[in-house]
Amino acid sequence: MNNIPKLIDPFNRAITYLRVSVTDRCDFRCVYCMSENMNFLPKADLLTLEELDKMCTAFISQGVEKLRITGGEPLVRRNIMEFFNSISRHLKTGALKELTLTTNGSQLHRFAEQLAEIGIKRINVSLDTLNEEKFSQITRWGRLVQVLKGIDAALAAGIKIKINTVALKDFNEDELEKIVKWCANRKMDLTFIEVMPMGDIGNENRLNQYWPLSDLRKRLTKTWTLKDTDEQTGGPARYVRVYETGQKIGFITPMTHNFCESCNRVRLTCTGELYQCLGQEDQVDLRKVLRKNSEIEPLLEAIHNAISKKPKGHDFDYSRQSISGQMSRHMSHTGG
Ligand code: SAM
Ligand code: SF4
Repeated sequence: MNNIPKLIDPFNRAITYLRVSVTDRCDFRCVYCMSENMNFLPKADLLTLEELDKMCTAFISQGVEKLRITGGEPLVRRNIMEFFNSISRHLKTGALKELTLTTNGSQLHRFAEQLAEIGIKRINVSLDTLNEEKFSQITRWGRLVQVLKGIDAALAAGIKIKINTVALKDFNEDELEKIVKWCANRKMDLTFIEVMPMGDIGNENRLNQYWPLSDLRKRLTKTWTLKDTDEQTGGPARYVRVYETGQKIGFITPMTHNFCESCNRVRLTCTGELYQCLGQEDQVDLRKVLRKNSEIEPLLEAIHNAISKKPKGHDFDYSRQSISGQMSRHMSHTGG
């Protein structure tokens, strides 16, 4: 089936990519993402699995062809495989071209095979260090061996993996080469992410964590030959190929690179708010519309309305040692 994009924003961008946070909860407490004592949302506020399915199906009927499931940690949501099983029917009809997820990997050893069976071909796993002690330090509650076991299980099930690594000053700078080689040996792509000013995370000072990717990239060129590619995903990542290893490395630099002009995505939170832009507060409460109406039309109308107000871009800026454009909401709520 050919799914024609029906969601076109005021800047003529076709919205074909939906990221959905299915929970704000997580079994880790990464220092740049959450505080140690997080207050989570009441369960009744969360979209049920059936509601999540209805929402995603509505977007797919309007031309969304890529769905990324995220969180919080998507694989800690109770019965999440029921949702994955059900929504994968759109892969079979061809309406959905890609169903994927972003995960911390802690539960992958349990779910990798089932995820492969329903048609998931690629997933993103977040991993900032290969050192066990540092891993516990950055995730507070995580165990590296468990994540590595999950990655192995996914690779064995035939799923391609991209590793997402947040570049952190004085934390993983010294592991740069090791991480690149480790990914190359496993034929995994790698994307580096700059720390973004999301959420109130307690005492951590983001300017202390911030390691600009321009510097990281310069460091990489001391060891490898990086060839620019013109590959575009409509997202914030820019890609290079490493000549010596053939692997792809991405750089997500929301602070230093304006990627908004090619944006093709919107985000649905676990409570059913649709954020038209990661870096803006504008949102529309789709849960209210969904719970009030048994018909699908009001929901479709609300979605179209929201897209017609998608802003041109975000305002993050770390310049002059102040953090302007800072967002109060947590990445785990919106879905990273
Ligand atoms: N729990 C899953 C995981 O960690 O992959 C999915 C949700 S997590 C919020 C998605 C991504 O956001 C992760 O790659 C994480 O490293 C990234 N992230 C979280 N907080 C961030 C921040 N303040 N700046 C940049 N990236 C952040
Ligand atoms: Fe959890 Fe992912 Fe946030 Fe880490 S980055 S605390 S794994 S949601």
